[in-house]
Amino acid sequence: MRILLVEDNLSLAGAIRSILAGAGYAVDTVHDGVSAEALARAEPFDLVILDLGLPEMDGLSVLRALRDRRDDAAVLILTARATPEDKVRGLDLGADDYLVKPFDVAELEARVRSLLRRRAGIRAATVSVGEVTLDLASRRFLAEGRPLDLPAREKALLELLFMRQGQVVPKEAIQRALTPLDDALSDNAIEQYASRLRRRLAGHGLSLRTARGIGYYLEAAEEA
Ligand code: CA
Repeated sequence: MRILLVEDNLSLAGAIRSILAGAGYAVDTVHDGVSAEALARAEPFDLVILDLGLPEMDGLSVLRALRDRRDDAAVLILTARATPEDKVRGLDLGADDYLVKPFDVAELEARVRSLLRRRAGIRAATVSVGEVTLDLASRRFLAEGRPLDLPAREKALLELLFMRQGQVVPKEAIQRALTPLDDALSDNAIEQYASRLRRRLAGHGLSLRTARGIGYYLEAAEEA
């Protein structure tokens, strides 16, 4: 899942980025409103975490610009502005959620999970394919009830495929979801993650299939 973090406080931006990157999200960070608007215009994001007090163009103007051109990224406002008027203005302009600084890290992570789940149109607590289940609250995979431990990138790939179950996920979308812009992933690397995942999933009642020239999708197998 791909996140744009807009925060002008550099140390806070670095801290949030490392928390979210550690949780397996691809995070791009910008420090002013004009850059945020330009990057969001150029690249699709699943979620924008948006500070309001920003140099050059404030957060509410960034939000207005996003919604004016029908960008449907989820937006979480993260700000020190805590009056009801501020919250109402942000939500009315099209933000999906509002979190006031200082915030609790666990709460930020929970809201990010919830927004991404909602955006994927998933309201259930778990998604299952074959014998494998993704618990959306803990973001853990279980295979026949037992934890399925995966290296970070393979886990991020499988999570993306689960969130878009029933669809072919194009390679470009995988590339964008797995790594930030400054760390591009080759087609070869994606193929390697996919083939390792395929081996790990063997015997668990699902297959990772290739849509030749397009991308990948998950399918429940006939026989586990
Ligand atoms: Ca600020």
